[in-house]
This record gives sequence, C-alpha cells and structure tokens, in this order.
Amino acid sequence: MKLSLVVPCYNEAENVKNFHDAVVSAFEGCGYEYEIVFVDDGSRDATLHNLKKLYRNEVTEIKIISFSRNFGKEAALYAGMEHADGDYISLIDADLQQRPEIVREMVAHLESHPEFDVVAAYQDRRGEGKILSLFKRSFYAVINKMSDVKLYNAASDFRTFRRSVMESILEMGEYHRFSKGIFSWVGYETHYIPYTACERVAGTTKWSFRKLMNYAIDGIIGFSTRPLRFASYLGSLTAISALIYLIVVVIQKLFFGIALPGYATIVVLILLLGSMQLFCIGIIGEYVGRTFEQSKHRPIYLAKEVLDRSKK
Ligand code: UDP
Ligand code: MG
Repeated sequence: MKLSLVVPCYNEAENVKNFHDAVVSAFEGCGYEYEIVFVDDGSRDATLHNLKKLYRNEVTEIKIISFSRNFGKEAALYAGMEHADGDYISLIDADLQQRPEIVREMVAHLESHPEFDVVAAYQDRRGEGKILSLFKRSFYAVINKMSDVKLYNAASDFRTFRRSVMESILEMGEYHRFSKGIFSWVGYETHYIPYTACERVAGTTKWSFRKLMNYAIDGIIGFSTRPLRFASYLGSLTAISALIYLIVVVIQKLFFGIALPGYATIVVLILLLGSMQLFCIGIIGEYVGRTFEQSKHRPIYLAKEVLDRSKK
C-alpha cells in the first residue's frame, strides 16, 4: 500500500522544509510507503530551490513538478495527481494549516471502511471575518439552489481518496477547474471529518477578494446552466408585463380618455430593458467564453521541469 501526498506550492519558500519535516514525523512508523508530490505553481521566490534541496537529501520519496508560470491551485492539484502513483491520494496545502497527522487518520479510516472512497475534512471553526463568512455562506446557498451538484459549505479540498476516485477526477479534463464541484460531480461515498485549520506558519494567503469572486463565478457557471434559463424567464416575464401594460393603456385611452404623458415611463423602461438585455448577454457571454477557451484544448498546465526518480 502506498500513499501519495499532493502538495500545491505557490511562493511557499519558508514552508516547504517545515512541511516536509512535519510529514516525515507524522508518518514515522506508519507501516506503509508514502511519497510527496510537490507542485511548484510558478513561484517567484525560492520555493523551487528549497524543494530541490529536499529532493537531493532523499529523506523520503519526493517528486517535483515545476510549472512554467502560475497556473493556479486547481491546475497544480491536477498535475500532482497525474504524477501520483499511490493507492491513496491526499491533497494537502503546503502552509501547514492542515496537519499531516490528519492525513494519517484519513488513510486509517479508508483502510478500515471499504464502503467509503473519500475522506474529506471540513473546518469546524474558521478564523475568518464576518463579512467574508457571510459572503461564503450566501455563495453556497446560491450555488446549491442553482446547480445539480451539491456543495458542502465548509468542506475544503483537504481530502484523501482511493486511486479510482483520482482516475475519475483526472478524466474531467475541463480547463476551468472548480475542484469542489468536481469532487461532488464524480460522486463516491464521502466521509466527513472535522478539523481546525491552524494559523499559516509563514507567507500570506493567496486568496484575494477578487480571486474568490472569480472562483465563485467559475463554480456557478461550471456546474449549472440555470443562469441561462434565468435569462429566458426574465425575458418571458418582461414580455408578459409589457402585454398587460399595453392592455391597460388601450383601455385607459379608449374608455376613460386619459391623456398619456409618458416621458418618465419611457425613460425608465428603456433603461430597465436595456440593462436587462446587457445582463443576459453577460450571462450568455460567460458561457460562450468558456466554450471558446475549452474548444482551444489548451493544456491545463505546462511543466518546465519534472523531478521524479521513478521515471529514470
Ligand atoms: N496555491 C497554489 N497556486 C496558487 C495559489 C495557491 O498552488 O495560485 C497553493 C498554496 O501554495 C497553498 C495552497 O494552494 O499550498 C492554499 O493556498 P492558501 O494557503 O493561499 O489558501 P488558504 O489556505 O488561505 O485558503
Ligand atoms: Mg492556507
């Protein structure tokens, strides 16, 4: 039995050595083989340099995939899984917010419970601000209403699964990767365990509000076509309202002889309809754009260097 730890690293120079040591001590005497697949996601600091040092020391089995530029965490996870050859795969961050000891528990759980294929950790307490937390909760409320996949709010992509699950995930070759949706889409029996995220040891989080926002939109567009239907509904609704108003106007004119001064109404209606149309074009545009990008069949990532002793 073998475990592969897939670790995306973006500007984590101060963390990779600590992370490596934490893994080594957590898995001491575990009784099975394990490897660490580091993916350097185009870091601009000494991450790759430090990873290579670990690689040369040969304390444990390490693979390094180094991207030609920053492709994002989702791409890094994909690349890592492609190079992982364990029977169990674990996705874990390099910043030690997720303790490697938990991975050991996850593996033990999968070993003793053949009915489960995935063990996913969710954060029971989060140290994030009220506004962000409100924003995240509303995002999950919206996406769970709109899409066919069900997303679990606190569930992170800190998880361990069987090789069969990994193969299913890799089969999903979409360019815009939204891993939470992908995990949910592939199915399999998932067991959830709580964990408390630790403070980042060093470095800063790579998530800005804008990145989170884009991630949210990716999630909704990638796993639902309901926004498109929403555009049709909106169109039908305005058509019906327009018809009703037309009848009202005709009756007013014919039976009550009311003059119809309509400057304000017209301006408001033009603005309203114009903005609705732009809004719907925007929605369609999101889908067209994604279709365009996917149709180019660009690779999800480009590796400039792969260090893997098993391949030589
Ligand atoms: N990461 C990455 N590419 C990116 C952004 C992040 O590989 O473009 C990695 C990062 O190095 C870390 C993990 O993804 O190992 C989680 O990132 P971060 O800690 O910034 O996210 P948070 O824990 O704040 O959600
Ligand atoms: Mg983190």
